[in-house]
Amino acid sequence: MLTIQPICAFSDNYIWLLYDEQSRQAFVVDPGDAAPVTATLQELGLELAGILITHHHFDHVGGLEALTQQYSPVVYGPHNPAIDGITQRLGAGQSVEVLGHSFDVLEVPGHTLDHIAYFHAGETPLLFCGDTLFAGGCGRVFEGTPPMMHSSLQALAALPTATRVYCAHEYTLANLAFASAVEPDNAALSERVAQAQATRSRNEATVPSTLALELATNPFLRCEAPELKAALRAQGKLQGETGDEVFATVRGWKDNF
Ligand SMILES: [Zn+2]
Repeated sequence: MLTIQPICAFSDNYIWLLYDEQSRQAFVVDPGDAAPVTATLQELGLELAGILITHHHFDHVGGLEALTQQYSPVVYGPHNPAIDGITQRLGAGQSVEVLGHSFDVLEVPGHTLDHIAYFHAGETPLLFCGDTLFAGGCGRVFEGTPPMMHSSLQALAALPTATRVYCAHEYTLANLAFASAVEPDNAALSERVAQAQATRSRNEATVPSTLALELATNPFLRCEAPELKAALRAQGKLQGETGDEVFATVRGWKDNF
């Protein structure tokens, strides 16, 4: 059994810490900053055995050099030569061992072209999805195209609904405010907003969420849903009926929200 907890970095990043209580071995996902990782490892008496990288952005890789110098962990990441320090580069169809648990590698381009995600199938499925799928939202499409990003999100949407979704930022309240503008009559969404507000008022993380909750409330996973299309149509925003067209419309709206 893995223990998983967030390490807060910068203003709103989560560096996910996974560790085994017995062996005290740990992995971190996307260490953008080494200092809070080192502090947490020392506080908990853990040894850093490995690092998972999802994509090349600085707030996900900025702590790599310092951590590899201090701990010599195995470093898994995408096939992007621009990221220094990766010891094993991964693509779709490959899997990695994380403290005795197998994670499949999914290629999810769109936010960046090199973006990968890590999925553990099992009794409690786990997904580390970086900046592709957020709680209540999705990453900006910086390097890919909207259809590419939509296709990547659909691949994540097809994972088991019980999957726990560990994204890399605490953007949930802002994402849900936008989701509520898109689908003002979504009752599951209204309930989620109230819960997320209560969670944040206690200064706790709203992440992980579950894929079931995302499917019910996240507009970027609902581009094929008749309810979402009807909501767009009612607001005069529906520009096309296909999932890709709806995604492009919703993403473009969010970029200017
Ligand atoms: Zn990013």
